[in-house]
Amino acid sequence: MLILDSERPLFYGFQWAKKIEKESAIFKVDNFNKDTLGVNEHFIYKMSRLGVMISVLSPICLFWAGFRWEWLVACLIVHRFLLWGHSMCLHTYFSHGAFKAKRWFQFFMGCVGTMAHLGSLNAYAGIHVNVHHPNADKDGDAHSPIHGFWHAFIAWRYKEHFTNPEGVKPVRVKSVYNWVDPRFKNYPEIRFLWRYGFQMQNLSFPLAYLLGMVLEYYFPAHITAMAFFVYIKCLPCLAVQLGLLSINVMGHSDWFGYKSFDSDDNSRNSFIAFLIWGSTCFHNNHHMFPKSARTGLSFWETCFDFDYLGLKVLEKFGVVWGIIEPSKERIEKEREQYRVAENKELYIDLDSAA
Ligand SMILES: [Zn+2]
Ligand SMILES: [Zn+2]
Repeated sequence: MLILDSERPLFYGFQWAKKIEKESAIFKVDNFNKDTLGVNEHFIYKMSRLGVMISVLSPICLFWAGFRWEWLVACLIVHRFLLWGHSMCLHTYFSHGAFKAKRWFQFFMGCVGTMAHLGSLNAYAGIHVNVHHPNADKDGDAHSPIHGFWHAFIAWRYKEHFTNPEGVKPVRVKSVYNWVDPRFKNYPEIRFLWRYGFQMQNLSFPLAYLLGMVLEYYFPAHITAMAFFVYIKCLPCLAVQLGLLSINVMGHSDWFGYKSFDSDDNSRNSFIAFLIWGSTCFHNNHHMFPKSARTGLSFWETCFDFDYLGLKVLEKFGVVWGIIEPSKERIEKEREQYRVAENKELYIDLDSAA
């Protein structure tokens, strides 16, 4: 019988299923969709480096592309859109399920999230929810600065295994990347994004250049294929990757930003980071209330939490509903507890110094 390429993963999938389920039990990852298992994720992941390489090299192409202010503005708009693709789509919705959305909007968010080039929907959520959050800044964290700057920034992406608490067998990268969320199991369009996310990211580079050629043909005075490729595709993609990878380092380092809550890790909030992280800049708030769609919890923080403000507008139109956020009392209680604990520590320091 002829096995088509698209069916082959299914065949391998059943062979891998038991092994993966056993390993993943360490992180209580117990929901696997056998349709997506066994895809040679490692190969696909290597392939996704192609896109990363193109983005990294893209600034060189600026010499051919030239410069115009309107291209730079367009580049910044696409960058902001992709940041939204990460913060609200990949992170708040597909990883933490902090609100509910209409099916068409869910698919739209899935596409934008995939185009943020931070892993496929399942790869991102698999690492973020099952490895990062439960182990933040402890041995089992996939990308904590406690394991070193380069590890937290980029090296973790090229490891075969994730680090683990002492005495526990390391978990295969592959097993985490294959994790899928049962909430989306019955949506074939989301299964498609799970399965082909990495390939779509790679394909988007040549497609962007082709689209640029079409635009150059029709609007030669305004755009060139190279300018479209560099300013609309590569540079925003590079900026999003560099910015979001820096969350792993800066968002979890003592020397950066400020802390409002005792979230049992080193996570930090920062207003400046809004420029490169979007609404995920209040990372300490997020680690304190990971299920919350709202990350800006004080008045000024809320002014910068565009994702949450946008959600409230979409809620009025019935596109999203069931937005999860902590109550005012709970926020105040946790904030006060942290303040008291901090003061206690300060007095102990002063006492021991005296
Ligand atoms: Zn974090
Ligand atoms: Zn999170």
